[in-house]
Amino acid sequence: MIEKRSNWAGNLTYSAARLHYPTTIEQIQALVNRGSKLKVLGTGHSFNAIADTPADLICLSHFEPPVEFDHTRRTVTIGGGVTYGQLCPQLQQEGYALPNLASLPHISVVGAVATATHGSGNHNGNLATSIAALEIITADGKLVQLSRNQDGEQFEGAVVALGGLGVVTRLTLDLVPAFEMRQDVYENLPLAQLVDHFDDIVASAYSVSLLTDWQNEQITQVWLKRLITPDLTFDLAAEFFGAKLATTQRHPIAYLSAENCTEQLGIPGHWYTRLPHFRMGLKPSNGEELQSEYLIPRQHAVAALQAIASLRDQLAPLLQVSEMRTIAADGLWMSPCYQQACVAFHFTWKKDWEAVRLLLPQIEAQLAPFNARPHWGKLFTLPAPYVQSCYVRLPDFQRLLQTYDPQGKFRNPFLDTYIFGKF
Ligand SMILES: Cc1cc2nc3c(=O)[nH]c(=O)nc-3n(C[C@H](O)[C@H](O)[C@H](O)COP(=O)(O)OP(=O)(O)OC[C@H]3O[C@@H](n4cnc5c(N)ncnc54)[C@H](O)[C@@H]3O)c2cc1C
Repeated sequence: MIEKRSNWAGNLTYSAARLHYPTTIEQIQALVNRGSKLKVLGTGHSFNAIADTPADLICLSHFEPPVEFDHTRRTVTIGGGVTYGQLCPQLQQEGYALPNLASLPHISVVGAVATATHGSGNHNGNLATSIAALEIITADGKLVQLSRNQDGEQFEGAVVALGGLGVVTRLTLDLVPAFEMRQDVYENLPLAQLVDHFDDIVASAYSVSLLTDWQNEQITQVWLKRLITPDLTFDLAAEFFGAKLATTQRHPIAYLSAENCTEQLGIPGHWYTRLPHFRMGLKPSNGEELQSEYLIPRQHAVAALQAIASLRDQLAPLLQVSEMRTIAADGLWMSPCYQQACVAFHFTWKKDWEAVRLLLPQIEAQLAPFNARPHWGKLFTLPAPYVQSCYVRLPDFQRLLQTYDPQGKFRNPFLDTYIFGKF
C-alpha cells in the first residue's frame, strides 16, 4: 500500500492502491505481467485524472537508461521518466536543441508527448511532433518498437497515446542545432489592435504568447521569443501595436514576482532558458491554481477571441491569467492539431473548482461553433460524445489500443469515457 499521492496542483488525489518505482526493464515487465490495471505517472502535472488508475501506478523517475545520441541521424534516445529540465542542458552540451518547449521544463517528456502538450509559434508543432521512435512495454509484457520511418500510420496513432498503449520505456527525439534566443515583453496591448492585427502579431516572433487577466479590454502582456545569432543585435521599438516595452522582468500572472521566470529584457541565452516561461528548479506559474485550455482551428482565432471576450465579466473574477498561443498542424491522430493549425486559449484559474466547474460550460458553449478541442491534460466539462466527434481518427485509435491492450490494462475511467465512450 502507498500513501495517497496528489497531482502537482493538489486538486486530484490518485486513487491507486500502489505506486512502484521500477529501475529495470525486467521489473517493469514483471509489474505489467502481474497487474490487471496499470498506469504510468509522469511528473503529475496534469489537472485531470488522465494518469490515474485504481490499482498500480508506475513511476519511471528511478529508471535511468543511458542517454544516447545518434550524431548521424541527429537524434537522442532517452528513458521514459526523463524531464525536459534534465534533458535540455545535455542537448545543449552536445550542440543540439529541441525546436520548442512548453511554459515549464518540469514535466516529463513522455507525459508531455502523451497529452499533446505544446508551446507557441506559427511554425512550431506540439512537442509530440519531435518524436521519431518509441519503445513500449505493452499489456502482454513484450517490448515493442515503433518508429516514424518503419511504422508509418500506426506510429502516428501511437505518439499522442494518452497513456493507453503501455509503458513507454524509451523514446527517440529529432534534434535541431542549438540556437540562442532573446525574450522581450510588451505590456497593455489594446484588444482592438489584436483583433485587427492578429496574424501580424502572432507572426512577429519565433514564439508569441498573449496574456491577459481580462480585467479590462487589454492584453496585459505580449511575450516575444526571438531567435538571435551572435553577430546580430537589434534594438526593439519602444512600442508594439500600441503596447509598451517592459523595462523590468515580468511574471505572466502580473501580481507575482518574476524571480521564477526565464530571463527577459532582450538578454541573449540558450534556447532552453528562453522558450519556457518558468525556470527549472523553481515553482512554475502560481501553484495554487487550476488550468483549462481549448484548441481551435487557426482560421477562427479572431472570432473565438471575441467570443471569449464577451464573457469577460464572468471570467475576470475567477481568472489568474489567460494565454493565447499558436501551434502548427501535425499528423498525430489524437493531437488537437491533427491536420489543422490551431490557436490555443488557456486559462489559469483560482483554485475554486466549484466555481470553475460552473463557468467552463459557458466558455465551451461560446467555443463550440469553432469545434474547440480540450487540452488532454487540463480541466473541461465537454461531454464525451462531443470530444469524440472532434477526432476523425478515433476509430483507428480505438483499434490500436485494442490491438496492443485487448483486456484494457492501461485503460482508466478517463480513457473509458473520452475514447471508448462508456459514459
Ligand atoms: C504549471 C503548468 C504549466 C503547464 N504548461 C503547459 C504548456 O505550456 N503547454 C501545454 O500544452 N501544457 C501545459 N501544461 C500541461 C502539462 O504539460 C500536461 O499535463 C503534461 O501531461 C504533464 O506531463 P506529466 O509528466 O506531468 O504527465 P502526467 O500528468 O504525469 O501524465 C500524463 C499522461 O502521460 C502518461 N504517461 C506519462 N509517462 C508515461 C510513460 N512513461 N509511459 C506511458 N504513459 C505515460 C500518463 O499515464 C498520462 O496519461 C502545464 C501544466 C502545469 C501544471
